[in-house]
Amino acid sequence: MNKNYIIPSEWSIIEDGFDADNVEASESLFSIGNGALGQRANFEEDYSGKTFQGSYIGGIYYPDKTRVGWWKNGYPEYFAKVLNAPNWIGIHITINGVKFDLHTCKISNFKRELNMKEGWLGRSFNAELPNGNQIKVSAKRFISIEFNEIGVIEYNIKAVNFSGEIIFAPYIDAGIVNEDANYDEFFWEILEVVEGENSGCIHSKTLKTEFHVSTAMQIDLALNNEKISVPQKTTIEEKKLTYSYKVNVNEGDLATIYKFGSYTSSLNYKIEDLNSAALSNVQNAEELGFEKLLESQIKSWADVWKTADIIIEGDVKAQQGIRFNIFQLNQTYLGTDARLNIGPKGFTGEKYGGSTYWDTEAYCIPFYMATKDQNVAKNLLLYRYNHLEKAIENAEKLGFKNGAALYPMVTMNGEECHNEWEITFEEIHRNGAMVYGIYNYVNYTQDFEYIPQYGLEVMIAIARFWHQRANFSEAKNKYVILGVTGPNEYENNVNNNFYTNYLAKWCIDYTVECLNKVRDNYSSDFERVVSKANLTAQETSEWLKVADNMYFPFDEEKQIYLQQDGFLDKEIIPVTDLPNSERPINQKWSWDRILRSCHIKQADVLQGMFFFEDKFSKEEIEKHFDFYEPITVHESSLSPCVHSILAASIDRMPKAYEQYLRTARLDLDDYNHEVHEGCHITSMAGTWMSVVQGFGGMRVWEDGVLTFNPQIPAEWKSYSFTINFRGNIIKVYKSQTECKFFNESDNVVKMLVDNKEVLIPSNQLVTV
Ligand code: BGC
Repeated sequence: MNKNYIIPSEWSIIEDGFDADNVEASESLFSIGNGALGQRANFEEDYSGKTFQGSYIGGIYYPDKTRVGWWKNGYPEYFAKVLNAPNWIGIHITINGVKFDLHTCKISNFKRELNMKEGWLGRSFNAELPNGNQIKVSAKRFISIEFNEIGVIEYNIKAVNFSGEIIFAPYIDAGIVNEDANYDEFFWEILEVVEGENSGCIHSKTLKTEFHVSTAMQIDLALNNEKISVPQKTTIEEKKLTYSYKVNVNEGDLATIYKFGSYTSSLNYKIEDLNSAALSNVQNAEELGFEKLLESQIKSWADVWKTADIIIEGDVKAQQGIRFNIFQLNQTYLGTDARLNIGPKGFTGEKYGGSTYWDTEAYCIPFYMATKDQNVAKNLLLYRYNHLEKAIENAEKLGFKNGAALYPMVTMNGEECHNEWEITFEEIHRNGAMVYGIYNYVNYTQDFEYIPQYGLEVMIAIARFWHQRANFSEAKNKYVILGVTGPNEYENNVNNNFYTNYLAKWCIDYTVECLNKVRDNYSSDFERVVSKANLTAQETSEWLKVADNMYFPFDEEKQIYLQQDGFLDKEIIPVTDLPNSERPINQKWSWDRILRSCHIKQADVLQGMFFFEDKFSKEEIEKHFDFYEPITVHESSLSPCVHSILAASIDRMPKAYEQYLRTARLDLDDYNHEVHEGCHITSMAGTWMSVVQGFGGMRVWEDGVLTFNPQIPAEWKSYSFTINFRGNIIKVYKSQTECKFFNESDNVVKMLVDNKEVLIPSNQLVTV
């Protein structure tokens, strides 16, 4: 564990005391957002110490020209990056002529709080400036969920030991850069700076993609809680708009600045309306005022928590961990805009470019599906449906034909933008996750119509890909899939990765099963899809030949599936034998050493067993878990959750709990030594699954039956969670001694609990 400075608290993330070494980590952890935009927890006032500035607008990206050492045919031309957007939060402050720079002050009583229940970020501290003036600062900021183009700041300064003048100089700075820029280019062009009375905006556009954005601010000032009117002095620089206001204070006075900020973008407005829309946003926000906006924020978050909260009693760190994960997921994506998706770092950093990965289908869909209206999960599926043409083009670029699709490893608009050959070309298992997402959604919601309407086209294109990607091996008398990278990226260019082969076979089988169902029950859709895809019965029987004769590497002696051909040639060394000084291995070992080692970055064979647990016996899962878990280093954030869920399913609660803590507090305790780069948002959905699917044992397989098998870690007194199951809100409560279900809906809900059928009548609490 790297860091251990976050104070345990049930509803808040708290930092107590200032440590410059934690600034960048805290900027990640205390990030705020509303699904449409978000920002790192950068300070409002000046800070000349080390910081990582970041404000992001969902869907506003730049195609940064690819940079690689050695170009390979098929590489994408660019890597799409959600850009650091103009900064509207900044406020320069001068006190009696001295610039207030937090880095050069004596700071005491520093406290930062991210209030997850109410959705705001707060800070308070005392600072002594180099001239001896002492101030007490308290600031609160949030990004509104209800008014989703607006953010607001209340910033208070108390003059502790002096009288004189405080100059507040709030600004919009459009001269921002990305830390991650392949050629250190500037990504924005400034088009117009508009000055107004206490309000103003900057209109800028991204180069190449030409997204237009207007960033606006509006200012209010108060002295001792009474609104004051102060003359405004304007400074317009090329990329920056600054207003300054001089406030005279007596010792003990409290001076306050309110800053209302807004982004409007050409994703939602005509270009000529952007400035007026942004300015009217901040004006409306100002008219409502900070307190009213805060009330609305608290209400919005209460609505989110109603169906998403997990309550853990008896373990405050676990409670804080799970709420942090749920909170960040909701800050990243609320499901209201089908053009957006969930980047692995959300709005908390630049790594991964804010783009979409297989993480969405493999990890995030269950969370959104069970904590929100089912249209949210459907939107996530439609995002991929809308990218089908591009996925077909992507496969064509690599030499596939006849409408085969390869979905990108990383994308913003459907085009592939990852550029490491071993991932771009080889990590093809991602294609299977697209189908798994559909399968999961249909099982859970029973909205089978999604398949004839949309899903089937995607599935056909993916089945075609697997059919073409496999080849017949004379030596094995089976179909093999060569030259791949499995989920374990610490192995490249391997043959017959079990997980990939298994998914390929399953995708074909499931596609054919769905084709038959659609033919029998949705004949007009069937004809439409089959004629659009130009699919024949002959072709599907060719696919089935591959599926029926797929090869899986298996070791007879150990009775386990091997991660890939030849895996047992490796020296099998348990991770517990590695000295701590050599962990994480991706920061300590050469890549060559990692590739040759047996050490697994993240669940690979076990990922398959997690997806298709119903297809394996408990003994099989145990055997594979016992072989693979001890050699897994969990250096992908996506790993511990899968292990936690599988461990619970084989009744290894201590292990399940150990892995749960790792996933739930991965960022809070910085297990992988990288939280300063941003939080691991997509794996947070895995944390949620660890409680609901792991400890709660919730499953919904193809028969559509909701099942539970609740267990509880010894460390907890009780836990409870809520799910939205086909419009029925079900609460599950488990303590060390009892298990209860509450059905908040108007229907009787049928489920299996510990393999026994249970009916939960409407609005009743049933003890099982
Ligand atoms: C993991 C991938 C994942 C990506 C984004 C990588 O470290 O190995 O499986 O898709 O991060 O989360």
